[in-house]
Amino acid sequence: MTRLQCILQDIHDMKKYAIIVAGGMGLRMGGDQPKQFMLLNNLPILMHTIQKFFMVSADINLLVVLPEAHKTTWLELVKKYSFNIAHTVVNGGKERFHSVKNALEHIANEEEALVAIHDAVRPFISTKVIENSFAVAEKFGSAVTCVPLKDSMRKIEGESNYAVDRKDYVCIQTPQTFLLSVLKNSYSVNWNEKFTDDASVIEHAGFPIHLIAGHYSNIKITTPEDLLIGEVLCSVT
Ligand code: C5P
Repeated sequence: MTRLQCILQDIHDMKKYAIIVAGGMGLRMGGDQPKQFMLLNNLPILMHTIQKFFMVSADINLLVVLPEAHKTTWLELVKKYSFNIAHTVVNGGKERFHSVKNALEHIANEEEALVAIHDAVRPFISTKVIENSFAVAEKFGSAVTCVPLKDSMRKIEGESNYAVDRKDYVCIQTPQTFLLSVLKNSYSVNWNEKFTDDASVIEHAGFPIHLIAGHYSNIKITTPEDLLIGEVLCSVT
């Protein structure tokens, strides 16, 4: 076997992780419980999301980040729904950035691994996109899911605003998958308000971002109407 084949073999065998971030309180949804615990087709949203990664491979190590105050509720839900997919629960942080950072601390500095980071509130992610995300990150070091814009865009500047070409932009989704070493290196900095996702953190550290195609049904359940759309998506998928 050539040296290159050996490396590719190693890469093929790389350990896989998924960090499912559910550390937010979901304030934009209203209600008395975090949105990731709300029911979709009679099952908590977070369980749908975990199932998607499990469907891709039972070998993916799952880390679920939850607000510390809601850990007990989650354990009760796990019992109530007899949810038996193994996962490690990690405490959430102040911002999404801190939640991811906490989860990374649970992954040992081993040789190399692939880590997909996914919003818990995107339960409609297709298993094909998850698979592709891991495959592309193996090849390029990063795989960030996106879709083209459907709406027109305007840039606001002070009191005025003007049209911009929507073809110059994409909407970013998750999963966002990276090499473990790239993530650990990038997340060693302090929080910055520009860090709205993982790609922004990795880019800040100087690593290139490789985009992959997502899909429009990979919605982020954020406001009450998203839950209604989610019920419809459940009935057709
Ligand atoms: O707030 P936003 O909608 O961008 O949150 C995206 C995802 O990040 C959600 O799944 C949310 O639970 C998670 N999050 C987190 N820790 C925070 C804030 C948000 O894990 N402190």
